[in-house]
Amino acid sequence: MTDSRTPFPHGTILGYPRIGRRRELKRAVEAHWAGALDEAELERTAAGLRRATRARLAELGLGRDDSSIPESFSFYDQVHDAAVAVGALPERFAALRDADGRIGLGAYFTAARGAGDDAALEMTKWFDTNYHYLVPEIGPETRFSLSSDRFARQVAEAKADGYTTRPVVVGPVTLLALAKASDGAPEGFSPLDRLDDLLPVYAALLAALRAAGADWVQLDEPALVSESLTASAEELADAAARAYAVLGAAADRPQVLVAAGYAQLSHEAWTALAAAPVEALAIDLTRGGVPAAAPGLAGKTIVGGVVDGRNVWRGDLAAAWQRLDALRGLDAAQVSAGTSTSLQHVPHDVEDEAALDPRLASWLAFADQKTVQVVTLADGLVRGRDSIAEAVDAASAALADRRDAPGVRNGAVRARVAALGAADFDRGDYDARAAAQDEELALPLLPTTTIGSFPQTGDIRRARARHGRGELTGAEYDGFLRDEIARVVALQEDLGLDVLVHGEPERNDMVQYFAEHLDGFAVTQHGWVQSYGSRATRPSILWGDVSRPAPITVDWSVFAQSLTDKPMKGMLTGPVTILAWSFVRDDQPLGDTANQVALALRDEIADLETAGIRVIQVDEPALRELLPLKQADQPAYLDWSVGSFRLATAGAAPATQVHTHLCYSEFDVVIDAIAALDADVTSIEAARSRGEVIGDIAASGFAAGIGPGVYDIHSPRVPAVAEIGALLDRAVDELALRRVWVNPDCGLKTRGYDETVASLRNLVAATTDVRERL
Ligand code: GLN
Ligand code: ZN
Repeated sequence: MTDSRTPFPHGTILGYPRIGRRRELKRAVEAHWAGALDEAELERTAAGLRRATRARLAELGLGRDDSSIPESFSFYDQVHDAAVAVGALPERFAALRDADGRIGLGAYFTAARGAGDDAALEMTKWFDTNYHYLVPEIGPETRFSLSSDRFARQVAEAKADGYTTRPVVVGPVTLLALAKASDGAPEGFSPLDRLDDLLPVYAALLAALRAAGADWVQLDEPALVSESLTASAEELADAAARAYAVLGAAADRPQVLVAAGYAQLSHEAWTALAAAPVEALAIDLTRGGVPAAAPGLAGKTIVGGVVDGRNVWRGDLAAAWQRLDALRGLDAAQVSAGTSTSLQHVPHDVEDEAALDPRLASWLAFADQKTVQVVTLADGLVRGRDSIAEAVDAASAALADRRDAPGVRNGAVRARVAALGAADFDRGDYDARAAAQDEELALPLLPTTTIGSFPQTGDIRRARARHGRGELTGAEYDGFLRDEIARVVALQEDLGLDVLVHGEPERNDMVQYFAEHLDGFAVTQHGWVQSYGSRATRPSILWGDVSRPAPITVDWSVFAQSLTDKPMKGMLTGPVTILAWSFVRDDQPLGDTANQVALALRDEIADLETAGIRVIQVDEPALRELLPLKQADQPAYLDWSVGSFRLATAGAAPATQVHTHLCYSEFDVVIDAIAALDADVTSIEAARSRGEVIGDIAASGFAAGIGPGVYDIHSPRVPAVAEIGALLDRAVDELALRRVWVNPDCGLKTRGYDETVASLRNLVAATTDVRERL
């Protein structure tokens, strides 16, 4: 057991953004990968960022020496950090270890990004967020051993700087529960089977952290809230009980905070953790109520996650206080204030947004503002509610101001949503539509198309930036984009594709572009959040009722159609994806917001139709992404999400062909929902998994048009004609021939032209082969 008994601080955040206020880490890491910054220099930049973070958090009111500042830096991903620390590196990267078996930064990055034939670790969604983690590969052969001292070094670095920080490490249960079985693992093997072998290494890691000066360590165990993992709630709770019995008894360890945010803990997991020999538990009170009393709490600190780590709203501080106060009823040794999750999912600082309407800004809280809220609540816990009355009242006043502000509620929008009836969500009989479209479009069997974007070249990005700086006039930029569209249309004609696209050169991002053209959204200048590795996105803020002041895409589509006799696809982003990749309002059900966006898109579709566009694609790559973690919440989600897509598209005439596109995920659980979207044609990522999804689609009885991707656009590799042909043969075998489309997995915007042209040539050639063989 530990000898140090410094109490847990009364307030803390579970983690802080690590990319830097101006994405300094991204730039440094990418420069390092490009060979322009050596490892020592990169380490110095990272240390500087960590130092700035500690100083900033202390300035905001967290304590320098009471473990309230989390040490949550990562060069790429926190799951990968933990996997590397315990030596869980797949066999194919074994040669990258140092002579003494350690895993250095080079090996860490190589496993994250792949090298030659050695594929990178897979990447997948972190719970129901937009963050993606690297999936550890663990099998019977994995030899766990302490393989990196990075966590300990950061604690020591902070110590030397005058801080006692609290290292944040993904816990053993979550590390295994999120891992996948390594390639050679026998049937039925589950990484969780290796828990007992892993625990001694975690115990050693704890001892190392203690030796480096940590009083407290935070072990993140969000897997315990999830119902979407292979392990059941009982299995996970049982694993947690075993893990923390062992770690609790470990020698020379710091005190342990087990943190389980992102949703409510299962009853089993809560009971197991309450009884475990650890000193503190952090729970998410923004997504679940105060849990029932449980044996074992009397000696523990409970950190109430009352400040939402995932939205950007200043929120209701009075309500947060009440929840904390209710937590006191559990008779734990201490109640502390915290965030519901790490703040890695929100931008740094509202103060950086000089261009934002000050009134809107006063309703917002990014990581720094949320930290101040936690400090305020902690103060209240120590000195009483009266001592923080002023701050609580100010938050309540901002909330009231937001409720009544113009634009937050738009009467016309609300009346239109309220008047919707079942018919507004229904396009009518599919077979009749299909017949009308066959006649209208007269497409060949196995029609070929692409998903929308063509390569976003340096020229395009430069022109956009110059236009943003005012160096290109509106007319000049417009002319540039028209030339680009004309080039892309000519290229597709030359390739012999059947349904063309305009290439989307005018869009910086498929969601932000629409947010910029719709009322009810605001965009930030510096509001970046990490998406994965060095990649960050800048979500728009959806703050008010959504409406469309003017047509958005019509001019571009009409121009593109004027250049060709082939059908030109209008290209829109669907309501669910627009919500999933924005910061959404928290003052009404998401489904209501989705319907407002849907109506704006419905008007856009009507305008496209009037202008002569006969094929319209509404992308919903994020449909799976927003699926709630709790099974009980999933039917309601699928109901409104599918409903909003149908609302957006159901105004289209029978002869207008509505496409949708999905990617980025496994579709198993949403196959029925995809069919319920009732699109005429669905293109879906499939090449990356070598056509696996085709079987699922066939089994589901999906009857409409379907384009399982035959070209994996995530790599520069050009697929051979035979390889594409094999995937097509499989699709034609398993699905109704008349309904099969031929397309890549996703948009081409991240690809270069050479590989794109070669790949699309092969795609068309393979299609011709298969057509001739029919
Ligand atoms: N139409 C978009 C594109 O082609 C779709 C992108 C996506 O699915 N993520 O880029
Ligand atoms: Zn896609």
